[in-house]
Amino acid sequence: MTKKVIVDIDNTLWHFCDALYEELRKINKNFPAYDYWTHWDIWEGYCTEVEFYNAVNAIHLKQHHDNYLPYPEARDFLSNLKDNGYHITIASHRSPDYKKQTEIWLDKHGLVYDELHLSYQKTQLFNESTDVVVDDSPHVLEEAVKKGIMATGLLFPWNRDYHDNGFMLFNSLKEILKYILDRNLDRYGGKPMEIKVEKPTQQYLEERKVSSWAIWEKEVSRFDWYYDATEECYLLEGDVVVETKDGIKVQFGKGDFVTFPEGLSCVWDIKKPVKKHYNFR
Ligand SMILES: [Mg+2]
Repeated sequence: MTKKVIVDIDNTLWHFCDALYEELRKINKNFPAYDYWTHWDIWEGYCTEVEFYNAVNAIHLKQHHDNYLPYPEARDFLSNLKDNGYHITIASHRSPDYKKQTEIWLDKHGLVYDELHLSYQKTQLFNESTDVVVDDSPHVLEEAVKKGIMATGLLFPWNRDYHDNGFMLFNSLKEILKYILDRNLDRYGGKPMEIKVEKPTQQYLEERKVSSWAIWEKEVSRFDWYYDATEECYLLEGDVVVETKDGIKVQFGKGDFVTFPEGLSCVWDIKKPVKKHYNFR
């Protein structure tokens, strides 16, 4: 079965925001650094919308220039997806006028793909045969989630506040790749994502030196979580229901020893405040 992934370019395969900041500073040297770009209307108060989009276009026009480099991990990220059977569509909200520059850039940096789609309507590509969308735009990721597509991307100031909306954000493409491949294993008949809940003996707790493990505490809340390593924990206090994406609910609380497998995506629903010792394997 061919799996389909749609991968964005700007701020997914390369650090577009640095190039944009440089262009924007040519218009107004007081433009704030991208740490402050928490919404897309960042030009307001610093330049006009037209000047802003001219700056964006100026970059895409010279995409193939030598100073615009992909992230060091970008090449392996795409090659690994290809090797794992994904059909890769590179999709960008840039004008089709910049197709040549974009193709040259992708080719010269060894960024493999099957299709290149440049348009202002990327989300039109999303359909029932799309398995994964990788993007930094919260709007694009939300559209993917609405269609039941796995959505993930790099973490930035402009998407950080939306991380509860059903998509997963990471600090590196390596972590994104692992997330996609782990979920893929799970989905296409790999290892089951089982959460183990046990009542440990005092002797077991002592042998494992559980009381010396770090402590984590959390108030009543509900949030998404992804395990990039296997976690073991021992609950000192609390009452929690964890629900996996397959709809399996597991409840545990004070006195339980719980093991979460690497690669698990779930929702934590904390009913009573939690205090636990934990350890990653
Ligand atoms: Mg982008």
